[in-house]
Amino acid sequence: MSSVFYVTTPIYYANAEPHLGHTYTTVVADMLVRWNRMHGREAWSVSGTDEHGEKMVEAAEKAGTSPQAFTEQISAVFQRTWAELGIGPSAFVRTTNPKHVANVTKLLQKVWDEGWIELREYEGLYCVGCERFLTERDMKDGLCIDHERAPERRRETNYFFLMSRAFGWLRQYIEEHPDFIRPERYRNEALAMLRDESGLGDLSISRPKDRLDWGVELPFDRDHVCYVWFDALISYLTGAGYPDDPAFEARWAVAEHLIAKDILKPHAIFWPCMLHALGIPPYKHLSVHGYWNVDDRKISKSLGNVIRPLAMRDRFGFDAFRYFLLRDMSFGVDSVFTEDALVARINADLANNLGNLVSRTLNMTGRFCDGRVPEPEEPGEAEDEVRAAAETAARAVDEHVEKLEPARALEAIMRLVDATNRYVDQREPWKAAKDESRAGELRTTLFTCCQSLRAIAVLLLPFVPDSATEILSRLGVPELADEARLPDSALGFELPAPGTETRKGAPLFPRIDSSELSEGED
Ligand SMILES: [Zn+2]
Repeated sequence: MSSVFYVTTPIYYANAEPHLGHTYTTVVADMLVRWNRMHGREAWSVSGTDEHGEKMVEAAEKAGTSPQAFTEQISAVFQRTWAELGIGPSAFVRTTNPKHVANVTKLLQKVWDEGWIELREYEGLYCVGCERFLTERDMKDGLCIDHERAPERRRETNYFFLMSRAFGWLRQYIEEHPDFIRPERYRNEALAMLRDESGLGDLSISRPKDRLDWGVELPFDRDHVCYVWFDALISYLTGAGYPDDPAFEARWAVAEHLIAKDILKPHAIFWPCMLHALGIPPYKHLSVHGYWNVDDRKISKSLGNVIRPLAMRDRFGFDAFRYFLLRDMSFGVDSVFTEDALVARINADLANNLGNLVSRTLNMTGRFCDGRVPEPEEPGEAEDEVRAAAETAARAVDEHVEKLEPARALEAIMRLVDATNRYVDQREPWKAAKDESRAGELRTTLFTCCQSLRAIAVLLLPFVPDSATEILSRLGVPELADEARLPDSALGFELPAPGTETRKGAPLFPRIDSSELSEGED
């Protein structure tokens, strides 16, 4: 496996502040970066804001300001939000950034020079929301299906990227690389789009400047600006350091794009075709997740059901919130967000299960062993079982993260928590503590609990970093939370060593009483 890892979130459209969908993708990217760093890889992540296009001009007008001032402000909110939540990317690309604009200009020229662009007269039905001409299949009852608004009849001269020339190549590439687009349902969708080319055709990549001047100028015709997707997709190259960062090639060779399913077509079709025309190898994986529906409806500002990540952090703690996101969405499938589900998940997994194991292990180590990890006797069958459960969990986490199944990885960790809690219940160390003749057994039990809890915390690091770090610190092994490659001993049953000083601390995940929660709401 490569020693480099490179992941991108979409370059988010900067016409509104970050919501649940943005937060989910960004949390998955952050989890992958942390997990890869633990495995000794150099991990690089890119996020950003897509700031050009007609929709942006519309949004700025509505806000009574210029596109420049408007995107400046929204982009700053995105950057600040991710930084405050501790999930900021390695590089943040704004599509208005001069370095990015220089890349887009250079690459447009290259595609033009190689004969992949053609000037055409075009007339059709145009949706401002989609920023493109619609085909029959994009409409229902005369309205754009995605935007539920009537398209305008427009006639204009546009430059077209001759994308359809690359369809044969792309179809074969997808067929030969089964995990190029994943999960499989989206790969099948992409292949279906390519089978029925009438719905795709070539891609208009320009707008006449007299109608839209907010965009990157075409280097071969200054009277036009670049169509928004062509510009935005290139930010994945800019973010990886294209063209002059020495790390670019190694990063690009393993590029992993994370997106939500609404932007499958630009990423599964436009982007590989663009890369093909540019002579740049395709990305390694496109990983597509479903929608978060809030109370069973799609999130939208007009429905008033927008979930703001900072508000969630203030109410529940960000680790609890990100745990819920990673645990309750099966990657690729739509999921429902309700506050009841969030509270139920926090209480069941974090407060009752994990929180209980943390507090009983550290409380009893404090009370019965002077707060130090005790010296165990020879492990028996029960101890071997806990150890085997930890090894199974570690293998399962690796396997599921590699297949981009964070929910199943967390399930595996919770199975280890269950197994350890069951072990404590069976050994009843509180009884052994009252019986002098069981002193050795007591020490073995609490030693085993400390070992298992340490394994759990290490496995949880990429998912709930702050809480996992706190557990390791209470166990007296804070160095294991270091982002550098984990020592092999971190997963064996050798740490924390007997004699290590532990600390009790306050409940990590206090139980949430949902009846109290609803009182404070509007
Ligand atoms: Zn539309």
